[in-house]
Amino acid sequence: MTVLVNPTALANHKAREFGMLIGGKWEQGTGAPIERIAPSHGVVVSRVAAGSKADAERAIKAARDAFEEGPWPRLTASERSAILLKAADLIAARSEELAFLDAIEAGKPISQVRGEIAGSVDIWRYAAALARSLHGESYNTLGDGTLGVVLREAIGVVSIITPWNFPFLIVAQKLPFALAAGCTAVVKPSELTSGSTVVLGEILLEAGVPAGVVNIVTGTGPEVGAVMTSHPHVDVVSFTGSTGVGRLTMANAAQTLKKVSLELGGKNPQIVFPDADLDAFIDAAVFGAYFNAGECCNAGSRLILHRSIAESVISRVAELAQKVRVGDPLDPTTQVGAIITPQHLEKINGFVDGALKTGAEVAHGGGGLDLGMGQFMAPTILSGVTPDMAVAREEVFGPVLSVLTFDTAAEAISIANSIDYGLSAGVWSRDFDTCLTIGRKVKAGTIWMNTFMDGASELPFGGYKQSGLGRELGLHAVEDYTETKTLNMHIGSRTNWWVPKTE
Ligand code: NDP
Repeated sequence: MTVLVNPTALANHKAREFGMLIGGKWEQGTGAPIERIAPSHGVVVSRVAAGSKADAERAIKAARDAFEEGPWPRLTASERSAILLKAADLIAARSEELAFLDAIEAGKPISQVRGEIAGSVDIWRYAAALARSLHGESYNTLGDGTLGVVLREAIGVVSIITPWNFPFLIVAQKLPFALAAGCTAVVKPSELTSGSTVVLGEILLEAGVPAGVVNIVTGTGPEVGAVMTSHPHVDVVSFTGSTGVGRLTMANAAQTLKKVSLELGGKNPQIVFPDADLDAFIDAAVFGAYFNAGECCNAGSRLILHRSIAESVISRVAELAQKVRVGDPLDPTTQVGAIITPQHLEKINGFVDGALKTGAEVAHGGGGLDLGMGQFMAPTILSGVTPDMAVAREEVFGPVLSVLTFDTAAEAISIANSIDYGLSAGVWSRDFDTCLTIGRKVKAGTIWMNTFMDGASELPFGGYKQSGLGRELGLHAVEDYTETKTLNMHIGSRTNWWVPKTE
């Protein structure tokens, strides 16, 4: 089902101009700004400062100075927590503005992005709560002469680099936890979707985050990001994006042995057994594959179906995919929006063409949709996919569902684990043993059982294998931005190592 793009919706929209935040001051950058064309309406919706290497270096210096000399790391946890809570309230107050920006820059459905902003508010509040429970350990069990205390100290300056697919949500998975620990940060959003992150900078200043604690440098990865991943005054790099750039990030950071946290790609299977609640699964299959137009690291882009149900499941998934409302992101009824750039649409189509040439078949969709303007793609299902095909192994990052089949649970596990990614997976069965066996044996950071793509601020998120390193969210998210220091204290007189000879 399509929702035609309303050509007049952005006719009176004046492109917003976004600067950079360095050391508490707003700057415009020296070069020509980067223009963002809305993927749905084809008009310029924002202009963002094109930060340079020198801008990135100044931002890192501002963050370093704020860490070494400024008040932020020296506040009590209660004071930091109060500021994070204020930030959460201000995000909630500006949620319509933030949702609109992400919708027009990323082409996301407005109703979906409203949910993402609400989810972000919850994460900021969760991080504020964790700030107050960060603590070390003490050991009073090491003998009469020793007391051991293990401190958690803020690690220092954090570089945060985010992609375009969840612009506001992903920065929320990183920044509030770094701030909760007492760190300072330099943030670089994707050059395609910088608006909401820049607005976050305004919000944080208003909430009382001191100058220099959060710096936002817009611009490209090779220019700004490369400095942020290699500069000796950065202590941690927290990166979300493609596995290729993640690898590069790790190599850059290795030169100065920085801590690195990587949230990368996925090629996530949903394994379905004949005893599953198929009504529930059909909906989850369509949601998993087409949510965010499949431009989602967690997309359930591989269905691994028991052979006995494959044919009927494919036709039911196709029937429901037909009803998904694809089109104008600003229409509140839209479920699937635009594809981020024309080049990305070409890449997705390339995967589909490649699959067809190697023996797969289109069971539904299969190409672009002409909705009057912008770039859109039909929810697509490819059947007859085999585990060796590129479309079964690589991240398409578009609304393309590949269907594979299995005969035994062992075979399903082997197909699920046969690729380089391991971000998430789903298993569908009414049998407890089946779910737990798959849950234990599939190598992925999250396993959903009889559901898909649910999440909560309390639940850690991250990948096995080449889907990443480290975890975000959850109880330990703040600790990731700390260094551990041991205080080994002696009580009473110390026994000498050198003992004088007595004879
Ligand atoms: P990219 O890896 O291309 O970019 C991610 C970020 O890295 C952008 O801000 C980009 O800047 C920046 N970057 C690019 N080159 C460099 C460099 N040399 N040094 C430092 N930074 C650099 O990913 P996309 O933005 O295209 O996002 C899509 C990808 O992100 C998908 O592959 C997806 O799987 C992955 N992803 C993973 C998630 C997870 O949690 N596992 C969540 C969301 C996305 P710019 O583009 O502005 O030049």
